[in-house]
Amino acid sequence: MSKFIDRLFTIPEYSDNESNVVARMTYSAAIGMVLLSAIFVTAAAFMAPALVKRATIFAVTFTVASLGIIALIRTQRLQIASTLLVSVMWLTVTLGSITAGGISAPIFAGYLVVILASGLISNNKISMFISLTCIISGFRILFAERNGLLPQPPQYASAMRLGIYIFFFIVTFLLQNVNTRNMQGLLKRAIKSQAQYKSLLENIPATTYINSTDENAHTEYVSPQVERLLGYPRDMFLKDSLFWKKILYTEDYERVMNANLDGTKTGEPFNMEYRLVTKDQRVVWVKDEANLVKDEQGTPQYWLGVWTDITGRKQAEEEQADLISVMTKRTIQLQTAADVSRAASSILDLNKLLPAVADLICNHFDYYYVGIFLVEESKEWAVLSAATGKMGEQMLSTHHRLKVEDSSMIGWCIQHGQARIALDVGEDAVRFKNPQLPLTRSEMALPLITRGEVIGAMTIQSQLPSAFSRVDITALQTMADQAANAIKNARLFTERVNLNKELEEQNAELERFTYTVSHDLKSPLVTIRSFLGYLRQDAESGDMLRFDKDMHRIANAVDKMQTLLNDLLELSRIGRIIDPPENIAFGRIVAEAVELLNGPLEKNNVRMVIQENFPDIVGDHARLVEVMQNLISNAAKFMGTQPRPTVEIGTDESDADGKIIFFVRDNGIGIDPHYHEQIFGLFNRLDPSVDGTGIGLALVKRIIEIHGGKIWVNSKPEVGSTFYFTLPPG
Ligand code: ADP
Repeated sequence: MSKFIDRLFTIPEYSDNESNVVARMTYSAAIGMVLLSAIFVTAAAFMAPALVKRATIFAVTFTVASLGIIALIRTQRLQIASTLLVSVMWLTVTLGSITAGGISAPIFAGYLVVILASGLISNNKISMFISLTCIISGFRILFAERNGLLPQPPQYASAMRLGIYIFFFIVTFLLQNVNTRNMQGLLKRAIKSQAQYKSLLENIPATTYINSTDENAHTEYVSPQVERLLGYPRDMFLKDSLFWKKILYTEDYERVMNANLDGTKTGEPFNMEYRLVTKDQRVVWVKDEANLVKDEQGTPQYWLGVWTDITGRKQAEEEQADLISVMTKRTIQLQTAADVSRAASSILDLNKLLPAVADLICNHFDYYYVGIFLVEESKEWAVLSAATGKMGEQMLSTHHRLKVEDSSMIGWCIQHGQARIALDVGEDAVRFKNPQLPLTRSEMALPLITRGEVIGAMTIQSQLPSAFSRVDITALQTMADQAANAIKNARLFTERVNLNKELEEQNAELERFTYTVSHDLKSPLVTIRSFLGYLRQDAESGDMLRFDKDMHRIANAVDKMQTLLNDLLELSRIGRIIDPPENIAFGRIVAEAVELLNGPLEKNNVRMVIQENFPDIVGDHARLVEVMQNLISNAAKFMGTQPRPTVEIGTDESDADGKIIFFVRDNGIGIDPHYHEQIFGLFNRLDPSVDGTGIGLALVKRIIEIHGGKIWVNSKPEVGSTFYFTLPPG
């Protein structure tokens, strides 16, 4: 029968199960009421015709009310429908009881059906209200019955009374039956959906878990996928509810704990990515998303979370980031290489080229410091020649240099002609001791090699602990090679410029020389020529006295020519011939020169003041004696009217290059500052009345320069002159 009612109409679907059940029951009850009242009318017609009228009124009321209830259910107004149903039932029972003799009327039992129906289809409050109303109605009917307020009741045949009771039993049975079936249906659905959820949870490619809401977040449940994710048996997490903390990757521990604490305090959803260590010590990345589940009252119950394995994605991200950083680095390297090569090909001045290269490399790569060292002539020291930043400036101002030996990175790099890296990480950790570069954490030294010769090295320093790799060496070495070639070219260019200048000077000197030689040689020749004519006259006239005098004049002119030619020959030799340099005590050179000049010095009554201990020097012995001879003889020659002619020989402090400064001082006529440069030129004589050729100082200058030294004069007219010159120490 109920199956038939079920099929009669289809009931609209509600969003929740409970509403669906109520809808079904209300629907069934409404239809059931119509059918049962029809049966009731029919039964009354046969069994108690007196009741047909009453039964018909009930049946019509039920049918109208049922249609209204069905319409309300269809329009989703379930609560009104169910309330209407129980109200109609209550009204029917109440009116029935009043008109059928009070509590003894068989319909009075209908209150039980009303209470039962309201319990099944109404919510708690309405059901309570209906039950209470039924009880109160019962009492009022009882009261009315006792006081004879009720109308005369119809007479019920016993069969009719039984029929009414049976009717209520059937209704009760049907309601109960429908309810049980609904409950079973619900239970089945719940079991099915629980199984579905469970199977879904345990088959999705993610691990689900339930944690407690306290700060410690104890594991209460974890899905079996955890075994596949981490290799640990699921039991581990359940037996040790804080096991999940023990497998957190050390570096992520604090971050996760803080987020967990925040989550428990605020109840906000938890969402973060971190690493876990698996049983076989692999590191896996998981995405952890958890939500706080609350009950209907809003009390937090547990955290429901999901771990998704994102190791693959993370690896791909890391690889991509690495790739981008490598690409960026290479692009910068290429760009820098292009800039360095442009600088190398366009700047020929070493003083500009080296800082330009250092700055380019330092700025493009954002390094901490770049310095360029060049090996000095003796190959013993590497001198800092360009450096970046304030600290670079300071080191350059103090002429920072390093020994070419293994004790420093630069020294090692030059010594071995190889690049070297020092990183402040792991076992290779190096202590960077330069106080001027306190932030250095990695250093790379690159040799500057050109045509097989190591001419210096470049140091590149970074504040990062492991800033350099082998690949960086290759890229930066290319730049270092370019810089080395550019340095070589710049040096060649400078040499060439200097050579040109020297040649120009020599040309000018040669011109002066040709002019003076022709002029100076011409005058004795003219003298000889004219005196040869006088000789003839003297011979013809037999004047032997005059003959002798003229012969003497000719001999003098020849001597002068001889001296001039000797000096010239000497000068021409200087540039070409030089004996191999040797270690000589300078005192010996002074002594020999003074010895050779003994005659003129004594003749002029010159007092010699000579320093006691002279240092050793390196040079050509004979040439240096010549230098001293010239300077001492000039000092003695240009004494003028000095009553106490004195010549002093000694040493001064060394110059910046470490060469010794010697001097020869006199208290003679001195030289006007205007001529201090000029006197070192060929044939420059200030006083033609004094004997000389003007070659002496030019010769001295050339010898000193061949020894790598310098010569200059400090003099005041009437006070005296001091000639200074430098020579390399022995
Ligand atoms: P010379 O001595 O043969 O004239 P030098 O080249 O030696 O040629 O010197 C060039 C000129 O420099 C001299 O003619 C002289 O005028 C000046 N001179 C050199 N030495 C001294 C000196 N000690 N005091 C003053 N004048 C000097």
